[in-house]
Amino acid sequence: MNSTSVAIVGFGKIARDQHVPALRDNAAFTLDAVASRNASLEGVAHFRDIQTLLDERPDIQAISLCAPPQVRYRQARAAIAAGKHVMLEKPPGATLSEVEDLRAQAERAGVTLFATWHSRYAAGVAQAREWLSERRVRSVNVQWKEDVRRWHPGQEWIWEAGGLGVFDPGINALSIITAILPEPFFLTQGELEVPANRQGPIAATLAFRDAHDADIRAEFDWRQTGPQTWDIYIETDAGPLSLTQGGSRLTIGDEVLLEGGDVEYPGLYARFAELIANGESDVDVAPLRHVADAFLLGQRVSVSAFHDD
Ligand code: NAP
Repeated sequence: MNSTSVAIVGFGKIARDQHVPALRDNAAFTLDAVASRNASLEGVAHFRDIQTLLDERPDIQAISLCAPPQVRYRQARAAIAAGKHVMLEKPPGATLSEVEDLRAQAERAGVTLFATWHSRYAAGVAQAREWLSERRVRSVNVQWKEDVRRWHPGQEWIWEAGGLGVFDPGINALSIITAILPEPFFLTQGELEVPANRQGPIAATLAFRDAHDADIRAEFDWRQTGPQTWDIYIETDAGPLSLTQGGSRLTIGDEVLLEGGDVEYPGLYARFAELIANGESDVDVAPLRHVADAFLLGQRVSVSAFHDD
């Protein structure tokens, strides 16, 4: 199999921490360029922005977009128009309408579009989905609580419109439960706590129901100090299942069935390679739709100003 020539656009935290190592470990790809205004990677061709990259390197076959979501649409549209396969970091856009248009553009251009949800590739997720597919879910309790100062220092975009605030991590939990729960579920109530000096929420409490009235609740909070919490607890007619540590640890009943390492980004690039080889796209907006519902239906409550330092 020939390796696909790929470029990363937006060389920040996630590009460095996860995309570069995952690409270097995957023979299906060769990382041939980076486009970023202020950052570069030693030994790899550098361009200031995506348009210069597209103009000067027609040999690049795929683009991995790792800039903040507010610029995703413009960059993705340019890449698709240039005939590239495109991988979108999560969330796939600032709005659902943008993502729908990208899906249509990619189909018309005959290229692969992959809207990634990295948490779906955590070690325990596939087995949880399989086990739950034959069970009746009674309740779900999502606790997704982390320290914004530790994980997002200086990221102004994350607080601005389109940056999602606490839904930036919270959407990862939503990406897992939309993948593993056997029935669709719908928001019934929400509260979004928004600091007086920010546009995005610092915490959110959400309640959902499915068609069988399962009680599904989620708490997202960016003010967590001490141990960090990325856990999902599910009660079913056959007993409890929990996916903890971001989905990497799966417990059914009292038995820990799986405790995996960090396999999310290798999984994403394996899937991207498969989609390109099969001439397919994978664009599921379900997690982003729930966030949009939370902004539609949720009650905004003003809380004290948040300062980074
Ligand atoms: P980041 O560290 O702020 O990096 C994003 C990079 O994009 C910046 O360093 C910047 O590079 C470029 N950029 C920023 N604003 C831009 C603009 N207006 N126009 C063009 N380029 C711009 O952010 P990140 O943490 O890597 O997150 C990026 C995406 O990955 C987000 O959607 C996030 O949700 C997702 N993600 C992040 C993590 C994480 O742990 N951080 C985990 C999973 C997914 P230049 O200044 O060099 O252009």
